[in-house]
Amino acid sequence: MKKVFTIITIVIGAIAIICGIICLASSDINAYTSSADTSISFGADYYTESYKAMAKAANNAADAAEAVADFGAAMLSAFGMFFFLSGALVTLKGVKELLVVLADEKANAPAPAFAPAYAPEAAPAPEAAGVFCGNCGAKNEGGEFCANCGNKL
Ligand SMILES: [Zn+2]
Repeated sequence: MKKVFTIITIVIGAIAIICGIICLASSDINAYTSSADTSISFGADYYTESYKAMAKAANNAADAAEAVADFGAAMLSAFGMFFFLSGALVTLKGVKELLVVLADEKANAPAPAFAPAYAPEAAPAPEAAGVFCGNCGAKNEGGEFCANCGNKL
C-alpha cells in the first residue's frame, strides 16, 4: 500500500515539474506595443490635439498592458520555478521512499519455495511382465519354456 502512495507521490511530483516547465516556457508571452504616431499634425489644432491625446492614450494603454504582461511573466516564472523545484523535491522524496519500500519488500520476501531444477518424470510403468521367445517371438507370461514352440526361454 505504501508503494502505491510513493508512486502517486512521484507522479504528482512529475506533474508539478511538467507544470513548472510549461509555466517557465510560457512566461515569455507576447509583448504589447503600440506604434501610434504622436507626431502627426492636422490643419486644425483641435484635431491635432485630440489625435495626439488618442495616440498617447493608446501608447499608455500599451505600456500598461506591457507592465501587466511583465508582471504576469514574472509571476509565471516564479510559479514555474516553484512548481519545478517543489515537483523535483516531491519526486526525489517519492523515489527515495519507493526505494526504501522496495528494499523492505525484498528483505521481507519469503524465501522461495524449493523448486528442483530437474523434476524427474514419473518412471515409465515397467513393461508388463512378459518374455518374448527367442525362437518364434511369441510373448510368454513367465514360465521356463515358450508356450508356443516349447523353446527354452
Ligand atoms: Zn517360441
